[in-house]
Amino acid sequence: MVTAIVVATVFATVVILSFVAYQNEKKSLFRLTFQLNEVYAEKIAATTNSLFQHMMQSLEITGKYLSADLTRSDLHDQLMLFQEGNSFFNSVFIVDKEGTLLDATNLTPAMKGNRLVSEGPLQALKERKPMVSEPYVSATTNKLIVMVSAPLHDSSGQYIGFIGGSIRLHETNVFQTVLGSVPNESDGSYAYVVSSGGALLYHPDSSRIGERVNENLAVSKVISGGSGSERIVNTKGVDMLASYAPIGNAGWGIVAQTPVASVLVSASKLVMTIVLYMLPALLLFTAVITWLVRKLSEPLVKLADFAIQLTPTNGNMDELPRIHGLNYEANELHKALGRAVRHFRYQFDSLSQEARTDPLTGLYNRRTMDKFIGGWIAQGSPFSLLVMDLDHFKSVNDTYGHDVGDEVLKFLANDLRRLLEEEDVICRFGGEEFIVLLPGDRFETALEAAERIRKHMAETDSPTGGKVTLSIGAAHYPGFAGNAEQLFRVADEALYRAKHQGRNRVEIARAAGEVMAASQ
Ligand code: GH3
Ligand code: MG
Ligand code: MG
Repeated sequence: MVTAIVVATVFATVVILSFVAYQNEKKSLFRLTFQLNEVYAEKIAATTNSLFQHMMQSLEITGKYLSADLTRSDLHDQLMLFQEGNSFFNSVFIVDKEGTLLDATNLTPAMKGNRLVSEGPLQALKERKPMVSEPYVSATTNKLIVMVSAPLHDSSGQYIGFIGGSIRLHETNVFQTVLGSVPNESDGSYAYVVSSGGALLYHPDSSRIGERVNENLAVSKVISGGSGSERIVNTKGVDMLASYAPIGNAGWGIVAQTPVASVLVSASKLVMTIVLYMLPALLLFTAVITWLVRKLSEPLVKLADFAIQLTPTNGNMDELPRIHGLNYEANELHKALGRAVRHFRYQFDSLSQEARTDPLTGLYNRRTMDKFIGGWIAQGSPFSLLVMDLDHFKSVNDTYGHDVGDEVLKFLANDLRRLLEEEDVICRFGGEEFIVLLPGDRFETALEAAERIRKHMAETDSPTGGKVTLSIGAAHYPGFAGNAEQLFRVADEALYRAKHQGRNRVEIARAAGEVMAASQ
């Protein structure tokens, strides 16, 4: 779970960091783009403005010079000289106050003497002052043009017409020279020029020149004289970062813009780079944390596994697992659990000892003996059975007291342990009756042991100061009986006979029913 939390945290960190970095980068890229476009639009607007000033000035100067005599024979040459000298215009022409075309650099015989009816000339005749026209389609050339003009006056100051220069918007012109390249073209940035009426005078997509784009927010702002930056959706539905600046005199405007999408691509690239740089470090970090968590929780897991198998019935529990001391709490738990287990084990051992043995002599009790016999019979293992009873024990008690009687019982128990083999099972059956089970099929060995015991008691002083003898009945499984019950019965009969025949004797049982003892 901790590992999952770490992974989730790392993931969330990457996501949040990427998001913040992206937002930041986006913001600063937007700001930068706006700044760049603004500077560009303003610079271009200023340049274009001064270009128009120059155009008008030179038209005025040439007009003043030529107005002295509009009928001069070199009028055409003068116009040609003027046009080629400054390369502002696609054609230069002179119109009298009636609107009749007097001369033009691109004059054809058909055009000479024509009355000009296009918007530009009509406006110039009406206003009689220096001006720049809205784009219009020339009636004579059928081309989309804007016209720059200056009025002509005779020596007495009378208005006599105007000198005009046309800029063909669809042909190589000054706008292309000025706007030819934008600084950040590579990201899809471009700039365009709109007239005061909202028509495109210049656009990198030349097919759009002449189109009206008033509904564009940047355009509507710039033609009402505003400047600034705006995120807009252009007429083609593209999300743009647009900056705009008005061109002073003409009432026109420059819009420089960059598609938002291309800015966002740069921002995403940055985020990708950040993530790429962060990833190895984060992976390493996750691995280290995971390892550390494992290391810290490992002892707890071990202790928990161990604690699970601690049940009141499970005495044979494994040793408490060893743990490495990285985790203080785990170490303390380990110590506490160790204490608890030792206590538990001690109690368990003493309880089971009590359950299995006789408190006076420490010998096995009857229940334990039954278990041994049950186990051996189930396995088919042969064994001999000696049933012993102290002789005249009642009188021992009566003569020396019950306590001495107990001492005699303990004395017998201790001597039985010495006289018998490790593998032999010695029980206090109850009262002053004892039973010995001797595993193996050699009944003779059991008889020898019985005789050894009998003789020892008959010859050794007991706690009474004298001898206390015993009588023994001996049987063998499966030689004398087919089950535990029969075996005890025949052994008891033998003991009874030993008593009857004078005590201090070993009597061999008689085989029960059909079972025939091999040893008899
Ligand atoms: P025999 O077996 O030779 O026929 O005579 P006995 O006197 O031993 O007779 P019995 O087996 O009937 O008597 C058993 C006596 O053992 C009775 C009781 O006072 C005594 N006894 C039984 N259990 C204990 C014990 O735990 N401590 C003591 N001191 N005496 C016990
Ligand atoms: Mg008895
Ligand atoms: Mg007895």
